[in-house]
Amino acid sequence: MFESIPVEVGLVHEGERVRKQEMQVELGGPSIPEKFEIVRVRPADQIADGAIEIEGPDIPQMPEGKAHPIGILVEIAGSRVEPDLEGVVERRIHEYSNYIEGFMHLNQRYDIWIRLSKKAYAKGLNSLRFIGQVMLELFRNELPIIEKIQITFITDPDQIKPLYAEAMQTYEARDARARGLSDDDVDTFYGCALCQSFAPTHVCVITPQRYANCGAISWFDGRAAAGIDPKGPIYAISKGECLDAEKGEYAGVNESAKQRSMGEVSRVYLYSAFGYPHTSCGCFEGIAFYIPEVDGFGIVLRAFRDLTVNGLAFSTMADSTAGGRQIDGFHGISIEYMRSKQFLHADGGYARVVWMPKEIKERLQEFIPAEVYDTIATEADVTNIDELKSFLIDHHHPVVERWKEDTGTEETAQPVQVFSGGDIPITAAGFRIILKNARITAEKVIIQPVRPPHKPGGERRDAEKH
Ligand code: SF4
Repeated sequence: MFESIPVEVGLVHEGERVRKQEMQVELGGPSIPEKFEIVRVRPADQIADGAIEIEGPDIPQMPEGKAHPIGILVEIAGSRVEPDLEGVVERRIHEYSNYIEGFMHLNQRYDIWIRLSKKAYAKGLNSLRFIGQVMLELFRNELPIIEKIQITFITDPDQIKPLYAEAMQTYEARDARARGLSDDDVDTFYGCALCQSFAPTHVCVITPQRYANCGAISWFDGRAAAGIDPKGPIYAISKGECLDAEKGEYAGVNESAKQRSMGEVSRVYLYSAFGYPHTSCGCFEGIAFYIPEVDGFGIVLRAFRDLTVNGLAFSTMADSTAGGRQIDGFHGISIEYMRSKQFLHADGGYARVVWMPKEIKERLQEFIPAEVYDTIATEADVTNIDELKSFLIDHHHPVVERWKEDTGTEETAQPVQVFSGGDIPITAAGFRIILKNARITAEKVIIQPVRPPHKPGGERRDAEKH
């Protein structure tokens, strides 16, 4: 099928990484503010079936080793193709393009990050046209409901600008559609295993009130995808008995997660970052990270380039969050989930969020309860944990109520997880014992400043001098 493509194309290449020093060119990625990929359904007579257009420079005209703007527009038609399917077909761009040897595609929508390796380029993969050909073939073969398809790569920044703005409006309209529905209104959730090539035990559970971590698939998208291809990577999950309404635990979800994760994940709390949190692959739009010093959550989005209030960057925390594990306090989330009434519901919702980037705080203002909005700090207010504590106290953030203060000692009020989700090896008496997926819970975590031992009469100052 891919004889004309100069590199291999197949499942075996899915999940391949292209490191910076190995890349011929980067398309999109963190340094390019406006980039997108989008699928639109069009009337059949508006599509030149099989056409692949490149508007702007192609790969050989792009400076080697540098990032370049990109927009990918896939237009489809078919008698059974509904606009509901746009989001789902769009997510397949990630899957199909990753089959190409030496071609790495990460993330989705306005966050895409693509790299082409020098090796693949040297083998002759020197045009976006090849990428388009692979996508055309796979879309036609895997999704036969698509009767006509054309693909346009836009690499001219002036042309990307208006199309990017239009794409953002389309994403927003899709997301808004699911907002009227609650998890109690439906009997069926949807699961997605598209990212298992990157994180084999990860399974997304998509509900009306818990949007997929990547922010690309809503409950409606899940329903449409499972309807046309029930045996595909997006499938229906019968909710089953509700085991815990606060945490969002359902018998059907647990059963499905167990099956799809090969037994690694047997329980899922949909609305909590603790206990049995929803797993994360690596495509999440943001991370909710627990800050033990204040017993609250920080939020960071992929696009945030600075250090967060705990001194860590998004990329550092992403390593702790990804991989299909259930890690307490490191929770992959989508922006749309942050608009949900069930957002971290069991952990306190926004009343537990203490820090987030200014841009997203302002963007989500109408979804953050008015009484806590001003009490949440941003990078413009504080830059470290000490400043954060003072800010929370000064602004009467609800988490302050959770603290018990005594001179120089602060105690968290709830039992907290101090280690979770990893393996602890113990070697004793000639045996190696591995506590697999261990969790250690402490009834109390006491955080005390470490004071230097008292030295009488100026001794300390003298010692410091030497
Ligand atoms: S992040 Fe989840 S919903 Fe999105 S493509 Fe991956 S598995 Fe599917």
